[in-house]
Parts: sequence; structure tokens; C-alpha cells
Amino acid sequence: MVIIKTPEEIEVLREGGKHLAAVLYKLKEKVTPGISTKDLDIYAEKLIRELGDVPAFLNYRPEGAKTPFPASLCVSINDEVVHGIPNKKRIFKEGDIVSLDLGLKHKGLFTDMAITVPVGKVSSSSQKLMEVTERALQVGINAAQGGNTVGDIGHAVESFVRAQKGNYGIVEVLSGHGVGRAIHEDPYIPNFGKAGKGEKLVPGMVVAIEPMINLGTKNVTIDEDGYTFRTADGKNSAHFEHTILITEGGAEILTK
Ligand code: MG
Repeated sequence: MVIIKTPEEIEVLREGGKHLAAVLYKLKEKVTPGISTKDLDIYAEKLIRELGDVPAFLNYRPEGAKTPFPASLCVSINDEVVHGIPNKKRIFKEGDIVSLDLGLKHKGLFTDMAITVPVGKVSSSSQKLMEVTERALQVGINAAQGGNTVGDIGHAVESFVRAQKGNYGIVEVLSGHGVGRAIHEDPYIPNFGKAGKGEKLVPGMVVAIEPMINLGTKNVTIDEDGYTFRTADGKNSAHFEHTILITEGGAEILTK
């Protein structure tokens, strides 16, 4: 069931979204050679708690998962698409691209955001992949206005990515989602689709849009840890996400 947020809830989500964006941009600065993914996770939890908020992913147990997620931050390097588990032996090195996906609970309500950042200098293909994915997110947000549908968002993202030079794979088995009272709510928002199809977007809906784009195949595998998704062909992947509010006109980005 799709939830329409009240004006009071929207105000809290705006505050939470501001907190989340501030934390993520501080984490971005720390993504340098020699730092471990666990170091970054510890820092993420510290920053969130200092703001009086709660990490949303820590001990979160998605449907079907055997174990709860053991960290605050998802850190996914290169061919890892999403949900990488922080580890003190996993060290950033020059040329990596790193997806940081983070959620927090502020005054009882959830926001969700992701960015992909380079470690030092990266290949031109990785740089282009990050740019295409970030622009795909913006294109999806532009399509997310009251009166449009979930299919319009997916269609906009897909058309944009298909129009790029290069054979990008759009991950299909993972998608954006409603967010707010829970970290994952209806509706699900695929990064592909048909214009005009699917759930109608109504002002007051809050959703996370999150394209995951690969340099090669769209196909992904999941590691034995039950969480880490990676590309089936080992090529790099990028991921950007914002939590947005649907309005009559253009969407409002809450995680900024
Ligand atoms: Mg999400």
C-alpha cells in the first residue's frame, strides 16, 4: 500500500534528509587510499549518532535474509553493485570506484541516499559510468512529478541510459522504492519501464530513486554473505540515490 505522508512527516523527512546528505558528503572526503571500508562504516555510525539519529541499515533484516545487515553503511567497490559489507581488511586503493549507500532514522522516519565516488584518479570509462549514472538519477527525478507514474520514471532512466554511447547494463533485479515510515515501502520503482504504466505518483508520496548502472552486462550475482551483489561479468558498476518528495510540479529532493 502506498503511503501519503502528512505535512508534519514531510517536515521531519526534510530534516532527516539534510542530516543524511551532510553525513554522506563527510564520508566522501574520507574515501582515500589506505582507509578500510570498516573504518568508513565506524565513522558513518559516529556521525549519525552525533546528530541524534539512528543508522537505518544496522541490524536491518530484509525479507528472506538469513542474517541482519551487520553495519550502518553499505560500501560496494568496483564490480560490487550494492550492499557490500564493511570489512577491516578491505582497503580502498587508487583507481577504485566506491558506492556508499546509507540510510538513517530521524525522529522515527527514514531517508535513504547513495553516491559513487572515485578513489584518486580512475579510468575514463569508470568516470563516464559515474557521470551517466548520476545523470540518470536526475533524469528519473525530473520524471517523478504528481500525475506521472512509476513507469514514467523507469522509462526516463532507461531511455537516457540507452541513448548513451557504450553498452551500459541497467540492473533490473533491484529497484527504487517508497520510503519514510519504513526503509522500504511500496511502490517499487524499477529503472526501466513503459511510460504511463504502473502506480500513479501522488503529491505527498516519498520515494527513493536509485539507478544501478553497469559497464557491461545487466546481470548480477549475489555472494555467499547473502548481501553483496556484483556484476556477472566482473565489470564496474555505479549507483546514485536520492529520497524525493512527489509534488504537483517537479519533485523535491529531500536528501540534499
Ligand atoms: Mg534504497
